[in-house]
Amino acid sequence: MAAWRQNDVKWREGKVFSLVFFAGEEASSVAKEAFNLFFSENGLNPTAFPSLRRFETEVVAMTASLLGGNEQTAGNMTSGGTESIILACLAAREWARAQRPEVNTPEIILPTTGHPAFDKAAHYFDMRVTHVPVGADFRADVAATEAAITPNTVLIVGSAPAYPHGVIDPIQELAALAQKHDLLCHVDACVGGLMLPFVRRLGYDLPDFDLSVPGVTSISADLHKYGYAAKGASVILYRNASLRRHQLFATIEWPGGIYASPTLAGTRPGGPIAAAWAIMNYLGEEGYVQITKRVMATVERIREAIDAIDDIEILGEPAMSILAIASDSLDIYEVGDELGLMGWHLDRQHYPASLHLTLHGAHVDRVDEFLRDLRTAVARAKKPSLGKTGRQILLNSARLLVNGLPSRWVSRLFPQAAAKFSSEGEGVPKRSAAMYGMMANLPNRGDIKEVVLDLVEEFTTQQK
Ligand SMILES: *Cc1c(COP(=O)(O)O)cnc(C)c1O
Repeated sequence: MAAWRQNDVKWREGKVFSLVFFAGEEASSVAKEAFNLFFSENGLNPTAFPSLRRFETEVVAMTASLLGGNEQTAGNMTSGGTESIILACLAAREWARAQRPEVNTPEIILPTTGHPAFDKAAHYFDMRVTHVPVGADFRADVAATEAAITPNTVLIVGSAPAYPHGVIDPIQELAALAQKHDLLCHVDACVGGLMLPFVRRLGYDLPDFDLSVPGVTSISADLHKYGYAAKGASVILYRNASLRRHQLFATIEWPGGIYASPTLAGTRPGGPIAAAWAIMNYLGEEGYVQITKRVMATVERIREAIDAIDDIEILGEPAMSILAIASDSLDIYEVGDELGLMGWHLDRQHYPASLHLTLHGAHVDRVDEFLRDLRTAVARAKKPSLGKTGRQILLNSARLLVNGLPSRWVSRLFPQAAAKFSSEGEGVPKRSAAMYGMMANLPNRGDIKEVVLDLVEEFTTQQK
């Protein structure tokens, strides 16, 4: 296993800008020790493990105190942001069933930058998502949100911040809208919930975004991101216990006895609950402020450096340590590919094309090296090359081809197209610029979704 790990991305070296959040070896080892201590324990029955019950309620209380909660606030720990969001949507659906039984298919209004977990919830729970385009500043458009309200709307969503560009939606306005129309309002603070309170404490000017805002009825915050907890830890908070009630489940008919469960999971692993409690108590607010200070200093260095490079820019006005880099004058995916060849992993985004940075402790000491390589990558991406011309030809022919093809054929075409751009002939293509260019230009979005699902099947099937 240790050997196979050699092929994984090297996040400890600060070369990966997503998926992992790091606050140093000492903090990690505290969380690991607590995790192992509760490796076998199960939070399903709180009377069997009062220790876990105590950890969960204290973690929820600490999170609530950071996010504008009061003695009315009620919530739970979950396995992650997705579960927290899914539960908020479930609670909204059940709330609507109780309050507004005439609604058949409840609707969620989500800015286009909102996390796919809301679409996933709608997919699972027979709800509908109305995606509202964000403004030029990448923030939710309040007027367009109001215009999207129908008699079936139950939930308005805003993010603090949204993942793609790191900007905070106008939460106060969205929540006021929800109040005006008697709707629920969820704030997705999955990535910001354990960062923004400390960014604010450092003196940065931030708008109110949490339960302190009238009209906000629930908020999600991931501990396994900037809380630096073990993976499998998030918190969902509701304004009061009667809203949270809609999330809970119980049955009294089962021969196995009375069964009740607050979240999606049945068996609830003790490790993530214990590790979250340990890291929050170990770091304390002062510890989080100190880490946040280092990360924000790194953010400022990167923002200043990017401002000084003519061909690239940061999109919108990011509130914390999540940035999107784009370009008007060159293909930003080429910059990503050049950085990839130098060992840096940045996620690609589209609408508009950009590269994504999630900055944390592992990047603090790598910033000079990163900025040097970024400048090199931009310079290289500006030079014309055979590969880029070939890419344009492939793009054009792909556009011609797919118009007349049955969808299954198109599905089969993609891995082959991907292989053409892989320098090793297998695995992840070394150059993603071409793939993204093609995807953005395909006329039938349904075909692309099938291709993606084909890949999901492939990745979850044992390799020969
Ligand atoms: C990460 C994230 C989520 C989803 O959380 P998971 O822990 O990946 O399930 C939701 N919203 C935002 C803004 C996020 O950054």
